[in-house]
Amino acid sequence: MKKAICPGSFDPVTNGHLDIIRRAARTFDHVTVAILTNPRKQPLFTVEERLEMLNECTRDLPNVSVAASEGGLLVEFARAQGAQAIVKGLRPIQDFEYEWQMGMVNMELNDEIETYFLMSRKEYSYLSSSIVRELASLGGKLDLLVPPNVEARLRQKFGAAR
Ligand code: ADP
Repeated sequence: MKKAICPGSFDPVTNGHLDIIRRAARTFDHVTVAILTNPRKQPLFTVEERLEMLNECTRDLPNVSVAASEGGLLVEFARAQGAQAIVKGLRPIQDFEYEWQMGMVNMELNDEIETYFLMSRKEYSYLSSSIVRELASLGGKLDLLVPPNVEARLRQKFGAAR
C-alpha cells in the first residue's frame, strides 16, 4: 500500500492545494492531508476550522483523509502514518528555494521517505492562501480561487457586508 502525506498550513485550502491533493490521490493508494501549524504565525482559521473545510472539500475522494500534525518533524509524522512519500505542489520560482531546502533536510532526517513535487497547474500557479486572505479582506471575487464552502467561511470571517 503506497501512502503519501500532503502537508501544508491550508489557511485556508485553495483550488491550487485541492488540485495537488487530487493528483496525489490518483498516484498513491492513500493520501493523508496534514495540517501543519506554525507557532510563529497567527492563522486566520483555527486548526478545527481548517480540518472541517478540508474534510468538506475532499469528501468525494475515498482514499484521502485529513489530520492535524501536533507539531514536530514532518518525517516523523509521515513515519507514524506509515507513509513512504511526501507530496508537495511547486509553483514557479517562489516555492523552489524553500522546498529544495526542506526536501534536503527531510532526506537527511529520513532517507526512506521520498519527497515528490507536482508542478502547479498553470491556472493556479499564482494562487496562495495569503492572496486569498488578502482578497477576502478587501471583498474581492473568490469563486475561481477557492471552493464555495471556503468562500462562505471567508465571507463569515470578514463580514457579510463585503
Ligand atoms: P500557501 O503557500 O498557499 O500558504 P501552504 O503552506 O498551505 O500554502 O502550502 C502547502 C503546499 O501546497 C506547498 O507544497 C505549496 O507549495 C503547495 N501549494 C500552495 N498553493 C499551491 C498552488 N496554487 N498550486 C500548487 N501547489 C500549491
